[in-house]
Amino acid sequence: MSNSILQPPCIFCAYNDEDYWEAASHAKTCPWFAVGSESEREGRLRDVVSQRKTLMTEAQQRLVKLDLRKPEIEAYYQELEQTVAQVAAEIGLNGYFEAPDGTVYKIVKPSGRFVLFKDLDFLRTKREGEERGTLSKVEADKARANGFKPLL
Ligand SMILES: [Zn+2]
Repeated sequence: MSNSILQPPCIFCAYNDEDYWEAASHAKTCPWFAVGSESEREGRLRDVVSQRKTLMTEAQQRLVKLDLRKPEIEAYYQELEQTVAQVAAEIGLNGYFEAPDGTVYKIVKPSGRFVLFKDLDFLRTKREGEERGTLSKVEADKARANGFKPLL
């Protein structure tokens, strides 16, 4: 029994040559590029039809997954921005606070000219295992000595 939709010419890339049933013969974008032999292609097709599998490449599947996470990531950045604004309202611009693990945070106006959409941002000292933080230990120590009020 052979499945007629598997027969040449290829329904995806129109390939129709001697090595039709060999892997790496079809177009690189063709689902059969990575799949050789009629029985393997038939099995793959069965999996797709029964929705157990996809004909997408691994990179294409990863791209779809990452794209689907976009709203979640955007929501994270939106919440982060709102929270930075709340902390700014509490301690003021250039104000500091310290986390229980000793990390010192500072609320700042972004100075980089490439940061176009942020009104406020925060800096912090490095955590264990990090090479460097955005706020220096020297400044954090000064701020601590000053009761975490903005330094002049
Ligand atoms: Zn093909």
